[in-house]
Amino acid sequence: MSVLFASDVHLNARRPGQVASFLRFLAGPCRRASALYLLGDVFDEWLGDDDVRAPHEEVVRELAALSASGVRVALVHGNHDFLIGERFVARSGCELLCQPACVQVYDTPVLLLHGDQLCTLDHGYQAWRRTFMDPGNQQTFLALPFAERERRAAALRHQSRELTRLKPDDIMDVTQAAVIDTLRAHGVRHMVHGHTHRPALHRIDLDGAHALRAVLGDWYEDDLILVWDDAGPRLVSSTAA
Ligand code: MN
Repeated sequence: MSVLFASDVHLNARRPGQVASFLRFLAGPCRRASALYLLGDVFDEWLGDDDVRAPHEEVVRELAALSASGVRVALVHGNHDFLIGERFVARSGCELLCQPACVQVYDTPVLLLHGDQLCTLDHGYQAWRRTFMDPGNQQTFLALPFAERERRAAALRHQSRELTRLKPDDIMDVTQAAVIDTLRAHGVRHMVHGHTHRPALHRIDLDGAHALRAVLGDWYEDDLILVWDDAGPRLVSSTAA
């Protein structure tokens, strides 16, 4: 049985095609897998576990059905859905993993993370991340009325789009130094992440040994996911898993 990895679906009611593809993926290929790891930004905007805007409820139900069928479904936070919390976990049957998370895939220890942590050249983003990942700040935000959270998120989205537009391309990617340091710190040679929307299997040298950094695709165009079975890991379209 295969193990599947997906990220950056960016589910949003404004893009019904992506929602339908993801629901088909959960109800189809995922049912034949032993585990599904969701590596962040599955939801385009998650403003707390009381965020029941479409298509959230439908997706939570499908995740619950998948985990009830015996498939291990686990996720890490992305920078769009980092407010996923305990209530989501209870309702969806998904496990919420602290990242980087080390999981065993066949006989290989594999490090899972969203990937934004590795974009260390983007100092502005990292400062933003420290603010938003602060538990105190999150509690304050979650205590606001939902409409106010929505208003603030819209303002932030606008601001972040403007900043992103002005940034050189390489600043938005991971740095090799952060990748190597992270692999070394966890004593592993395999990593899977998303976030950059630059799907690829990067074979790298780690202290004289082969290592692999697999980057998942987003679901805007080609919905590239990672399938790992006894033939090893490969990137395929979600419909081909
Ligand atoms: Mn992201």
